[in-house]
Amino acid sequence: MAPIVILDAGHGGVDPGGGNNAQFTEKNMTLNMTLYQYRRLQELHIPVAVTRSSDVTLPSEERAALVRNSGAKYCICNHINAGGGRGSEVIYSIYSPAAFPRLIADELEAEGMPNRRIFTRTLPNNPRQDYYFMNRETGSVETVIIEYGFADNPLDADKLAKDWKNLAEAVIRAFCEYAQLPYQPPKPSTPTNGGGGTGGNSGDGGSTSPGGSSPDNGGDAGVPDWKQEAIDWMFEQGLLTNEDWRSQGDKPLPLWAEAVILKRLYEKLKP
Ligand SMILES: [Zn+2]
Repeated sequence: MAPIVILDAGHGGVDPGGGNNAQFTEKNMTLNMTLYQYRRLQELHIPVAVTRSSDVTLPSEERAALVRNSGAKYCICNHINAGGGRGSEVIYSIYSPAAFPRLIADELEAEGMPNRRIFTRTLPNNPRQDYYFMNRETGSVETVIIEYGFADNPLDADKLAKDWKNLAEAVIRAFCEYAQLPYQPPKPSTPTNGGGGTGGNSGDGGSTSPGGSSPDNGGDAGVPDWKQEAIDWMFEQGLLTNEDWRSQGDKPLPLWAEAVILKRLYEKLKP
């Protein structure tokens, strides 16, 4: 099935992006946000694709072609800003309405990230063409570029480092509202409760597992949030890069992978 929306994590691989600071790099931050949004849209049963799901180099032309040929109606490009400013910016195409970027800005603001501006920009020598590559080269797909905040602004940087998941979630809310798709907030994390949780849905009564289920693992519900957060942290830090591991929190790592992680950690800590 063709995706309704395609998510684009800015930069990647040899291109770290410009929105970097001591706490994060743009390419990793945008990847984490994108993968979070990817999982959430899947949870909401909204067909979704991504341009990249790991730390790979993706040239602009290839990136735009992936979006153009995806069959998606919408594209959300995730970026972190730099250069002295404060707050989010949302850039949209001169051929698209302002409603979607407006909603995104409002939801990010509601989540505590002020909005600097939403805007369009045209080529200096051609007022009928968008200035930004992804707005211009993604065909009929409605593409918005989100700069979530400024990596070189301490307030934005702290907010992003601590709260990137909620900012990513804010965009899911905006998207569902704009595309008129049913939205449900993420289930609250219940690390100590192996049972039904507080999500209110007691309807999964048939799922009492036969063999003795371990108490700290909610059956087939997957890895609990506190464990997944630790795994996500490994990706944020660049210690793990293969996205296949991300969803396999309960599986053991082979020795070579442990060796790679330790080697990366050693390289990071080396003065
Ligand atoms: Zn960027």
